[in-house]
Amino acid sequence: MGVQEFKCPGCGAKLKWDAAEQKMKCDYCDNTYDIATLEEFEQEENSAPVEEYAWDPYNAPGEVTGLKTYICQSCGGAITVSDDSAATSCPYCDSPVVLNNNVTGMLQPDLIIPFTKTKEEAQNALRKFCKGKPLLPPTFVSEHRIEEIKGLYVPFWLYDCDAAGKMRFDATKVKKWSTDDFDYTRTEHYMVIREGEAGFADVPVNGSDKMEARYMEAIEPFDVSAGKHFQQAYLSGFLADKYNVDSVAAQPRANERVKNGMQELLRNTVVGYDTVNTKTTNMQLNTGKIRYAMLPVWVLSTNYRGKIYKFAMNAQTGKFVGELPVSWRKFWTIFAAISVGVGIIGTLLQLFM
Ligand SMILES: [Zn+2]
Ligand SMILES: [Zn+2]
Repeated sequence: MGVQEFKCPGCGAKLKWDAAEQKMKCDYCDNTYDIATLEEFEQEENSAPVEEYAWDPYNAPGEVTGLKTYICQSCGGAITVSDDSAATSCPYCDSPVVLNNNVTGMLQPDLIIPFTKTKEEAQNALRKFCKGKPLLPPTFVSEHRIEEIKGLYVPFWLYDCDAAGKMRFDATKVKKWSTDDFDYTRTEHYMVIREGEAGFADVPVNGSDKMEARYMEAIEPFDVSAGKHFQQAYLSGFLADKYNVDSVAAQPRANERVKNGMQELLRNTVVGYDTVNTKTTNMQLNTGKIRYAMLPVWVLSTNYRGKIYKFAMNAQTGKFVGELPVSWRKFWTIFAAISVGVGIIGTLLQLFM
């Protein structure tokens, strides 16, 4: 075994034994340290971060049968309807859909949140959203278009777990003062460690890649406690998306959301420093339970010049998100009108000069 060397935690220089102080001392930054403290410090710094996410395998309660499935020719989305109503266009990309004659079942959700916001409420929200935007192409505000809004059950995985986290931070406290001759800066370095446990309930992850996560995360949260035991009757009159991201494929996003939540909880307890940098995060998650849910969304997708613009509304809370195109023809018309106005004023000014 070689002689153990310690580096200064403050500046990285090699430390020397100081017989007078009975401590390890740094010649460069003048700090002194107990050996026990240095050992503890190095042990922490060299420990590899651990991330373990253990989710129970998902077991579906059953299948829903007797549904009609429509396939979108453009994006491949699979939309089911439970009654005789016919789907005409894809709720995700506005392309035509065709009936798939192979009868297929659909995974039965563990819970379903029924629609509470009506079609009229969704249409009113969309009208309000479009109002006062003079550059919108006229097709967007037409009543015919707004009539096309669709009630869609979007598949979701809900993740419940207990998690333990540990984070290490480099933090500093900086003090500055001056005398007549010198300016002084004293920087104190801290290794800050936080550990904690937290339970996460119903962390939602999209079960369909047809509905972009940024839309769904923008209209969260859904109150899962209002979820009902699944009955096929809830599907009547609405479309339902078949999931195409299974519970295993969705797990990385669940892990990330749990980790982000844990990091925020722990980070928020580190106060009183001038700078704080996260060095490592350990995450251990166990007894993770997964449920499958269908969440209600009013959605209108419009294909305008090859780009899809979506409006999505949480049909439980009314929270909505949307993207609208700009009609450049309208822009140039308005711009030209302003230029003409300026031109006339310019001419008038010249006359009076
Ligand atoms: Zn040093
Ligand atoms: Zn589509």
